[in-house]
Amino acid sequence: MAFLFDPPPQAALPIYGSDKLFPVHRIYCVGRNYAEHAREMGFDPDKEPPFFFQKNTDCLVLDGQFPYPMASENVHHELEMVAALHSGGTNIPKERAMDHVYGYGVGLDMTRRDLQGIAKKMGRPWEIGKAFDNSAPCTPLTPASEVGHLSSGSIWLEVNGKRRQSSDLAKMIWSIPQQIAYLSSLFELKAGDLIFTGTPEGVDAVSRGDVLKGHVDGLPDLNVVIV
Ligand code: MN
Repeated sequence: MAFLFDPPPQAALPIYGSDKLFPVHRIYCVGRNYAEHAREMGFDPDKEPPFFFQKNTDCLVLDGQFPYPMASENVHHELEMVAALHSGGTNIPKERAMDHVYGYGVGLDMTRRDLQGIAKKMGRPWEIGKAFDNSAPCTPLTPASEVGHLSSGSIWLEVNGKRRQSSDLAKMIWSIPQQIAYLSSLFELKAGDLIFTGTPEGVDAVSRGDVLKGHVDGLPDLNVVIV
């Protein structure tokens, strides 16, 4: 049977040094995964189990242009390392979790903070704050076979040349193996899943014209302009 209309294109990330594309299945994001960021958002990092939300695969932005979204006057940057899975499963033990990680990228979990704040206050889902169009700028992937598995090293974001976020991957509250183990107890993880692994402190608003540079040690930088 033919489709009624053209199906949407398969979301995919380029891979540095390869002519193959990484097809994206789902995008999971962990919330409040660096203690100082949890505190700046008004939470006690010692009192929470991990939690996750999702973005849509067509939220990915690969051309470095983030269009300032509709319906918000307070859009925040959250710089994050992105882990990409080339296999999955359920109830993955954390000792085996890294076998499923293909590689890493640098991403932004762009957030309509005003709309997220309303959703939080009303006990509503977060999609309007988190899963809006173009909310996930990301670099191409670097395979772990090239860079190794990343569990420490600088992570920082500059806006117009000024350092806004700065931390170390080792400060994640829930490590990537712990995130994979936990997520796979709730969802069947699959090849093509991306995990945005949380943002350090220093999240703040962006404006049109801002130039963002995101860095994770070992990976090529993410460069994004707010348009
Ligand atoms: Mn985030």
